Amino acid sequence: MEINSKIKVIEGPSKGRYPHSNSVLIGKSLIIDTGAGDVLKDLKVEWVINSHWHEDHIALNKIGKRVAAHVLDAEAIESYEEFKERYGMGDLVNLFINFEFGSVDRTFEDGEEFEFEGLTIEVLHTPGHSAGHCCFIINEKIIFLADIDLTSFPWYGCRDCHVGDFVRSIEKVKRIVQERDISTAIPSHGDVVFGKENIVRKLDEYLRVIYERDKKIRELISAGEDPVGKGVIYRRIPEPKDIFLNFEKIMVEKHLTTFQSESSLP
Ligand SMILES: [Zn+2]
Repeated sequence: MEINSKIKVIEGPSKGRYPHSNSVLIGKSLIIDTGAGDVLKDLKVEWVINSHWHEDHIALNKIGKRVAAHVLDAEAIESYEEFKERYGMGDLVNLFINFEFGSVDRTFEDGEEFEFEGLTIEVLHTPGHSAGHCCFIINEKIIFLADIDLTSFPWYGCRDCHVGDFVRSIEKVKRIVQERDISTAIPSHGDVVFGKENIVRKLDEYLRVIYERDKKIRELISAGEDPVGKGVIYRRIPEPKDIFLNFEKIMVEKHLTTFQSESSLP
């Protein structure tokens, strides 16, 4: 899908549904994320910019001569050991890996700007989904949201996730969309959203999912119940259960350890 003559969304299969994601081709030789699957296989670019370290965003990084990522996520893109450590489920993590790890040639931080073929790409560090998760503002009016993905399922099931940071990052994106009149939002999974008001509304709905989970978790705890496996995160724990139960445990734990002081609901 062409956003304009220089910016093209390359959708992963099934609208970028996991285990794939959407990529954005900027000009002829820079791509954001490489999880769109076979459609990318024959592409060759100068630069790959990764939004974060998850497998569904880095799988075809080898199509780029060089790779750039946020300084806090670079190691997990380069190293199996760090990748495994962040998932925190031992060798079960091998189920997610059908690619080779490769080097990150440049790291970046919040606020850095790249000029590329007459376009600007501004880094917005938005931690929470991962420690180094970033969104990118392209040419001032377009935002790549990565895994602030506007689905009904905000996800924070790894060790380097932080649900309090996630909420603050969503608020930050919302503020920037409003202040700068951003009119196009490209999530890593699902459809592109057009119109400032629509983007803000969807960000609000996304936030609400997190607040509702928090409320239910605290209600279950008050009633003396273990919130894990009660449908608060996964309605039913999918197969393989070991893996998804582990994600659910981590996500519930994140509510209890990294959201505690912020649980006053709007
Ligand atoms: Zn992710």
